[in-house]
Amino acid sequence: MLMIDEVKIGFEIHEQLATRTKLFCKCSTDYRNAEPNTNVCEICTGQPGAKPMAVNKEALEAAITIALMLGCEIKREVIFLRKHYDYPDLPNGYQRTSTPIGVNGELAGVRIWEVHLEEDPGKYDPITGRVDYNRCGVPLIEIVTAPDIKSPEQAREFLKELVKIFDYSNKTRKEGGTMRVDVNISIANQARVEIKNINSIKGVYKALKYEIMRQKNLLKRGIKIRRETRAFIEEQMITKPMRLKEYAEDYRYIPDPDVLPIKITDEMLEKIKRNLPETPMEKEKKLMEKYGLPKEVARVIASEYELAKVYEEVARHVDAKFAAYWIKDELKRVLEYNDLTFAQSGIKIEHLIELLKMIKNEEITVKVGKKIIEMMIGNSKSPREIAKEMGLLNVISDEETVKKVVLEVINENKKAVQDYLSGKKEAINYLVGQVMKKTKGRVKPQIVIKYLNKFLNT
Ligand code: ZN
Ligand code: MN
Repeated sequence: MLMIDEVKIGFEIHEQLATRTKLFCKCSTDYRNAEPNTNVCEICTGQPGAKPMAVNKEALEAAITIALMLGCEIKREVIFLRKHYDYPDLPNGYQRTSTPIGVNGELAGVRIWEVHLEEDPGKYDPITGRVDYNRCGVPLIEIVTAPDIKSPEQAREFLKELVKIFDYSNKTRKEGGTMRVDVNISIANQARVEIKNINSIKGVYKALKYEIMRQKNLLKRGIKIRRETRAFIEEQMITKPMRLKEYAEDYRYIPDPDVLPIKITDEMLEKIKRNLPETPMEKEKKLMEKYGLPKEVARVIASEYELAKVYEEVARHVDAKFAAYWIKDELKRVLEYNDLTFAQSGIKIEHLIELLKMIKNEEITVKVGKKIIEMMIGNSKSPREIAKEMGLLNVISDEETVKKVVLEVINENKKAVQDYLSGKKEAINYLVGQVMKKTKGRVKPQIVIKYLNKFLNT
């Protein structure tokens, strides 16, 4: 009997490092707006006789930093290997990839086997047959995990945690969309299938969902899984066979005689350790201890480096717990709705502080605050200016005015009033909503409910 619920998933994750220059030459890593094949030199296009320069130290330090943040031991001697394969995106016919820089780390319960440094290939378009080498030679960090992941959901959580580490390390590219994931998956100890080059967390999740279903269906029909490499077709959300899986020996790894072995000295390692960035987990713990935040609140705030930094600044000016809940519930809601990070939102810290102070001082109601925060995305105006322009600035505290509006609403909404009086107590929410509408949310709901109850129950 096959244990078809026994799923094992492992990753090989590639992410571009935010260095100024490529791994073995002085070409820029900022190729995004360059014409094809203009951000190149004889080294990164593999011209005959061109030799690589010494390995980019900035890239090496970035890889060590991330490896340390993943709890790895650092190898003190690293060499570069040539990994051979034939594809038009690879001008040399081999990719330079390092021996492990870090080993035996751990993240979110998943063992990190190895951390490597390697060079990005160029871009090949099989439809037009064109190759663009602008990207060729950009340093990549490669992270290899053990097959410790048991479900697509866990895979998604793990990758989110890893992206947080990248974010906190400040050593990877911030533009996004540069992560590429190769997924290994086996079911019931059958052959391992690799899905290549998935470029989003959502893509990984969908590919795994599909692949588990596909393999289980084969196993149920008594068909063996073959070892192969598949491609994920994002538009159709399926995987397709690419080639039968190559084995390590197919790559004919050999040490690259043109690149000197690298010694990682005590001095270099100590310096990196001294400047090691906080991890997201450490930040979360700090937020809990320093500001007395519950774990789930601290977790949301620590989920983005920039957001945590903003929070700590805001907490110097506004009640720390009040600010934490606003950031977790409202700011995060608006960011997620717009699919932005805080860094991308264009919201200024001083504007956020001003908004929170206005709510705290009851210059505006909570409801108005929620509306204004939605309008702060990419807005150069301050919350006070926004509130003023929209006539939302003054909280209606004069109870005579509130009474008057409540009576109006009662007169204009006979049906809801009838419902309420005949026992449908939730009809009161509709009436509260109508009062809010008339007052643009400038009145506290507690006062509205007080008068509604008073008038409806007499
Ligand atoms: Zn170059
Ligand atoms: Mn690789």
